[in-house]
Amino acid sequence: YPMTYRRLGRSGLQVSLFSLGSWVTFHNQMDISGVRQMMAVARDAGVNFFDNAEVYANGESEILMGQALKQLGWKRLDYIISSKFFWGLDRGGAEQPHINGQNTLNRKYLMQAVDGSLQRLGLEHLDLIFCHRADPHTPIEETVWAMHDIIERGKALYWGTSEWSADEIRAAWEIADRHHLHKPVMEQPQYHLFHRRKVEQEYARLYADIGLGLTTWSPLASGLLTGKYRRGVPEGSRGAMGHLSFLHGELLDKRKNAAVDALEEIARSMRCTMAQLALAWVASNPKVSTVILGASRLAQLQENLGALEVLAKLTPERLGRIEELTAEYAD
Ligand code: NDP
Repeated sequence: YPMTYRRLGRSGLQVSLFSLGSWVTFHNQMDISGVRQMMAVARDAGVNFFDNAEVYANGESEILMGQALKQLGWKRLDYIISSKFFWGLDRGGAEQPHINGQNTLNRKYLMQAVDGSLQRLGLEHLDLIFCHRADPHTPIEETVWAMHDIIERGKALYWGTSEWSADEIRAAWEIADRHHLHKPVMEQPQYHLFHRRKVEQEYARLYADIGLGLTTWSPLASGLLTGKYRRGVPEGSRGAMGHLSFLHGELLDKRKNAAVDALEEIARSMRCTMAQLALAWVASNPKVSTVILGASRLAQLQENLGALEVLAKLTPERLGRIEELTAEYAD
């Protein structure tokens, strides 16, 4: 089924409606051959955007993506790579804490972080860079200038935010507008059937006012929306990973799992899987520029890319039924 492309907000950049992210999976669940194969399959399906972050596997995710890009040998114009900065790299317990290099968006950290990221990826420039969270202890003006300067120095093409409040995004945009700096183009929020308020209400004015684009994350709520957590945490799943036990509250939520159960009937009537239904629902929001997929196995990615076909069959009646079954459990 052919990929479709949407403009990243008001920018001229066209991103594939489904893209591929590396959080949890690259390095922890996949080695270089798995990563290369996953990226190749995605690219063959029309995916042109691959999402990464400095903090993913503490830098190892960028290293793997860089190696895969080198081996795949694609033309630079054909793919879009992101990274995100805020937490900083963990360089082991023995050292002093990095006072200016952790949980920050100060200029010192950002200017250095982008260089590290380029080095690990083996790229001359990043396409998209994100402030991975907001930093209330750095003036937004300082962060805007740093992001502008990174772009001016040719190290990145567009910048944006992740999980910022609407007020913070607007403040950054207005500072950039006032000083004729590169403006934030996109935001990366969590968005799925059970997490909707930010995208649908809080940001509502930003789409028309500043032309905000969205690269949305965790479209399957880490797997909850596939139905795999209805009878507890399956072996080998994300929920079974020790360092991710903070996800259990949501993954094992009884009411949400009951709602997922009810969605199965719609998926069956559309001859698709629950994952495909949930992904098509995210993509059906025209404010979403790209839905970042996560997959620990190739078969998952192949299944999930099938959501393109399901999207074409999501009639208003079906969307209404999905709404009835899930809206009361969403935040
Ligand atoms: P999802 O919510 O879609 O979860 C993906 C995981 O669900 C997979 O790794 C797999 O885990 C399971 N899964 C996926 N498809 C299937 C399937 N068809 N059947 C069964 N299980 C399936 O997305 P992610 O949470 O991975 O987020 C996607 C991307 O978004 C990340 O890679 C990252 O790039 C970005 N992101 C950004 C954040 C930010 O703060 N900006 C935060 C989080 C993510 P398993 O097989 O191990 O159970």
